[in-house]
Amino acid sequence: MSILITNIGELVTNDPEADDLLGIIESAALVVDGAKVAWVGSAADAPAADQQVDAGGRAVLPGFVDSHSHLVFAGDRAAEFAARMAGESYAAGGIRTTVAATRQATDEQLTAHVARLVLEMRRQGTTTVEIKSGYGLTVKDEARSLAVARQFTEETTYLGAHVVPDGDPDEYVALVTGPMLEAAAPHARWIDAFCETGAFDADQARTVLTAGAAAGLSPRLHANQLGPGPGVRLAAELGLTAVDHCTYLSDDDVHALRESGTIATLLPGVEFSTRQPYPDARALLDAGVAVALASDCNPGSSFTSSMPLCIALAVREMRMTAAEAVHAATAMGAAALDRDDVGSLLAGKRADLVVLDAPTHVHLAYRPGVPLVTQTWIEGHPATVP
Ligand SMILES: [Zn+2]
Repeated sequence: MSILITNIGELVTNDPEADDLLGIIESAALVVDGAKVAWVGSAADAPAADQQVDAGGRAVLPGFVDSHSHLVFAGDRAAEFAARMAGESYAAGGIRTTVAATRQATDEQLTAHVARLVLEMRRQGTTTVEIKSGYGLTVKDEARSLAVARQFTEETTYLGAHVVPDGDPDEYVALVTGPMLEAAAPHARWIDAFCETGAFDADQARTVLTAGAAAGLSPRLHANQLGPGPGVRLAAELGLTAVDHCTYLSDDDVHALRESGTIATLLPGVEFSTRQPYPDARALLDAGVAVALASDCNPGSSFTSSMPLCIALAVREMRMTAAEAVHAATAMGAAALDRDDVGSLLAGKRADLVVLDAPTHVHLAYRPGVPLVTQTWIEGHPATVP
C-alpha cells in the first residue's frame, strides 16, 4: 500500500547531490510504499497514492539515528547526579553501582527497562538506535545484556571493555577477548572499548578491538572524553568508522581524523550532565572532519534519550549550525553505523521519518525542551510502541 504525505512545509532529504547540506525541498510531498520511500519532490508534482496524509505545512525530517547508547542497565543514580550538580564529591560506586544492579536484574526486568527507554526515544524522533552492553562485565551478564538489546535493534555493541570490574586488568582483558567475546559475538554487530585513563590504555584497547574484528565484529571506540589521550589516534590508525566523545583533541588528533575519514561522534549530553567543557565541533567541521551527534544515553554521565536536546546543545554550545546539527543527528549517525538505508529520505531508503510541529528544522534548536516531534514513522508506519 502507498501513502502520499503532502503539504510538507519543509522536507529534509539529506540528498548528497543537493546544493545545500540538508537537501531541503519546500512545499514538498513524499510517497511511502510499504517500508520504503518511493518518491520525494514538490507537492505540485506528486503522483497519486492509495492513501493521503496532510502534513499541514509542518517540517518532515529523516528519523534520528542515535549511534551511541547504553540502555541495558538497572538501578538509579539520581543521587549521584544531584550531588555532582551541588558541587559535592560523591563517594558512591559510580559505574560499579550500575554493574551490581544490572547483574541482579532478571532478563525480564532488563527488557522492560530497555523497552521503556526505546519508547521514550521514538517519541522524540529516534528511529534507529545503537545499544551497548557494558554493565554486566561477566561472561553471562554481557551475553544476556546483548541478547536483551537485540530484541530492539540490529545495532548491538559488545562493550565488555567498559571498566575493569575487579582484579588484574590484563587478566580481565584476556577474559574480554576470550570466553566473554565468544559468548557475546552471536548477539553483537560491533565491539567497543573505553580507551581512557582509569579504564583501558591504547594497547589494551587495540587488543580488544583486534580480537573482536577476528571474531567478525566491527570495531568502534570511546576516546578522549576525560582528557587528552591516544584513543583518537588509535581509532584513526585502525581506520574505524567512528570514534566517540572526542572532547579533548590535539591538532594531531584532528589531523589524524581528517586523514582517516573516521567520524567524530560528539555526545553533548555528557558535557551538559557532567558540567564539563564541550568538544570543539566548530574546529572539527572547519578542519574537514565528519561529525555525528548521539545521546550516549546512560545512567551515569548522560541520562537523556533526546536527540532534539543534543541538536539544541550542538547549536547553542558547540557552534554548529542548525543544518549541521540536524545532518549530524541523521545522515552522519547513519554513516557512523555504516548504514546507507537510513538517515536520508530519498527513493529506495527506509521510510523512517519525523513530523515536527514546526515549519522548519531550525526550530529543533530554536525551541529547546519543547516536544516538537508529533509523529515518528518507522518503515512506513507510525510507531508509538516498541
Ligand atoms: Zn558511551
